[in-house]
Amino acid sequence: MDVVVISGGSGFVGSHLVDAVVTRGFRAVVIDNLITGNPRNLAQWTDDDRVIVYHQDCARPPALDLPVRYVLHFASPASPADYIRYPLETLAAGADGTRGMLELARGHNARFLLASTSEVYGDPLVHPQVESYYGNVNPIGPRSVYDEAKRFAESVVMAYHRTLGVDTAIVRLFNTYGPRMRLNDGRAIPNFVYQALTGQPITIYGDGSMTRSFCYVSDTVEGVLRLLMSDLHDPVNIGNPGEYTILELAQRVLAATGSASPLVYEPAMQDDPKVRRPDIARARTLLDWSPTIPLDQGLAWTIEAFKQDLA
Ligand code: UDP
Repeated sequence: MDVVVISGGSGFVGSHLVDAVVTRGFRAVVIDNLITGNPRNLAQWTDDDRVIVYHQDCARPPALDLPVRYVLHFASPASPADYIRYPLETLAAGADGTRGMLELARGHNARFLLASTSEVYGDPLVHPQVESYYGNVNPIGPRSVYDEAKRFAESVVMAYHRTLGVDTAIVRLFNTYGPRMRLNDGRAIPNFVYQALTGQPITIYGDGSMTRSFCYVSDTVEGVLRLLMSDLHDPVNIGNPGEYTILELAQRVLAATGSASPLVYEPAMQDDPKVRRPDIARARTLLDWSPTIPLDQGLAWTIEAFKQDLA
């Protein structure tokens, strides 16, 4: 059985990728230092030898005497609250982690895929964001530990590709949501769902006019796997172009949960992108991919999962 190595495989998107690749007939090797990951996300594979888990840092991955075909680098704190809490670890995940996983791919002649991010576009001056846009990132702001780490990671990946001939891919993920996000993850959807379900005030940072575009995790996973199986090397956006203000999102969560939680306004986050929406023409034409799950459906499934996590 061919092996897919997934750093960050105990995390939110990573664990859904593990499920998907094993379902498609691969073995999965997970490398996760559990800084923001949770072993419970892989509990369904306990005692199943198709999933092997190493709880260690991916900057120095274990030697694997296995037929590794693909290497996916998904290890990193990804919620603004997390990467502001773990700034140096986030920089290391993008720099040392990316190098470690690229060397693993190189040693096995495997195709490598980097989980990059819409944060490489920063607070964008081009809307919607096309892959050819270079972005607008404050290099010394609090978000830079994530934004610049991912920008550096993309640069390292392209250097390994151009200089060493490693077969590489880069996916730029836009906001993704679904089951297995942590209740205290800090991002808008988990915060609002948790607050609505527990009767606490919904925290709106700033005036709520910022926009985001939310992609349900099963759509994201399908897009990532199509890119993995392709022969593309340049970055591809994967996200749902449906764009909502944060205030609209809060209202949808309140409606879907039937909650009477009030809205409270808190100070805006520094350098918070004012708008975000993916241009997915590349994914549509080159991967024949587009998202299929509408926000209200995805929210309903996410709310169900959060209710079970709370119970
Ligand atoms: N946000 C908010 N209240 C929260 C969490 C987030 O108003 O409790 C806002 C945040 O300031 C940003 C948007 O929601 O404008 C999306 O934030 P999130 O942390 O989900 O991810 P980001 O897209 O910023 O990485």
